[in-house]
Amino acid sequence: MALTGLEIFKLLPKTNCKKCGMPTCLAFAMQLAQKRAKLEDCPDVSEEAKQVLAAAAAPPMRLVKFGSGDNQVQVGQETVMFRHEEKFYNPTALAVTVSDKLTGEALKRRIESVNALQFERVGTQISVKAIAVINESGSADTFAATAATVKESSNLALILLSDSPEAIKAAVGKTAEAVPLIACAAPETAEAMAKIAKDNNCPLVAKAPSLEALSELTEKIKAQGVEDIVLCLEGLTLRDKLYSLSQMRVLSLKKVFRPLGYPTLSFVTDGEADQQAAAATSLICKYSGIVVVDTAELYAFLPMLTSVMNIYSDPQKPIQVEPKVYPVGEPDGNSPLMFTTNFSLTYYTVESDVEASRVPSYILVVDTEGTSVLTAYSGDKLNEKTVADAMTKQNVESLVKHRKLIIPGYVAVMSGKLEEAVGWEIMVGPRESSMLPKYLQEVWK
Ligand code: SF4
Repeated sequence: MALTGLEIFKLLPKTNCKKCGMPTCLAFAMQLAQKRAKLEDCPDVSEEAKQVLAAAAAPPMRLVKFGSGDNQVQVGQETVMFRHEEKFYNPTALAVTVSDKLTGEALKRRIESVNALQFERVGTQISVKAIAVINESGSADTFAATAATVKESSNLALILLSDSPEAIKAAVGKTAEAVPLIACAAPETAEAMAKIAKDNNCPLVAKAPSLEALSELTEKIKAQGVEDIVLCLEGLTLRDKLYSLSQMRVLSLKKVFRPLGYPTLSFVTDGEADQQAAAATSLICKYSGIVVVDTAELYAFLPMLTSVMNIYSDPQKPIQVEPKVYPVGEPDGNSPLMFTTNFSLTYYTVESDVEASRVPSYILVVDTEGTSVLTAYSGDKLNEKTVADAMTKQNVESLVKHRKLIIPGYVAVMSGKLEEAVGWEIMVGPRESSMLPKYLQEVWK
């Protein structure tokens, strides 16, 4: 909970020495409470006061990291309930299970299928972030050997799933440098699991069936010296889980209830691939930091990963492409030239439809601050001047000989003014980008 100015004042030396640049300690405390000053500006503050103030200033939800190098995963440290209030910061990490009952070729194929779960969408790579090795064999040695194989065969972050401290200890012994996420500590195994996590500097998942039990468990784990904790609610229906996850979010962000101020992990391992995708997508929206699924079906992952991408994009900053000329195929001086806006979704839709036409073309992308054609036009970000400026800046005259420009059908109304501004023939293209193949093949000659 954030401290008030008076509460901070009680922790200061109260000498009014002015070294901080403020006339009094009270004035400094008031500035600190409003986050207009830094504690380091007072050279005489005690260590004890520093610790109390640092704890109070800690984010309401802890940032937890696992994995190493370029594939390190970060979850947590969210600040709002709804993305339109600000934005969500650390995208939900999707993980896929690999059973330690698999051996040889079957294990190799499963790891390869998980590694392959990656796509390009609107110019961005989206992919699975972790492999969750499950101790289904019941053997600590087999679990450790499988975890070691996964670590060698995949760059994805590692989650070790076992209720047995003995099995976790054996697997961490083979994978510690990969900083695996240890899952899960239950009330009866908390002490042993926390010791392994602390000794190996790994984050730990705390698992319990209710918010009350989870709060007690995280306090117990924290008392053992483990700070990086991930929360997991076990044994609830999807509906109850979504309700409890929402309650946890409120308690951590609005009430700054520290025992639940951690990111969350959910398992979706029942049902067919499409059912798992539907459940996982709900949990991505509210409010799982990590979702572990059982399916490795490509078709199930595109909606899940697209949901993550959409939910965690900044609502105030549309995803944009660089404003420039993009060749599609191998266009020459006789190829069509058209323009669209730099909103990624618009651009990539147009680009794929032009590609489908098999007519090599140039697409001039006009900077409309990441807005779509109609939005840009109605906001006066797309007009004859912005298009003329983009044509000059990108020197399109040097690309084509014909002096014809195809414009989106939705802004046919600007054709007259644009023709006057640039002195080119303006051809009105189709309203819908999906009609571009027919247009380029039949109208463009
Ligand atoms: Fe008070 Fe510290 Fe500022 Fe001195 S430097 S006035 S002790 S807050």
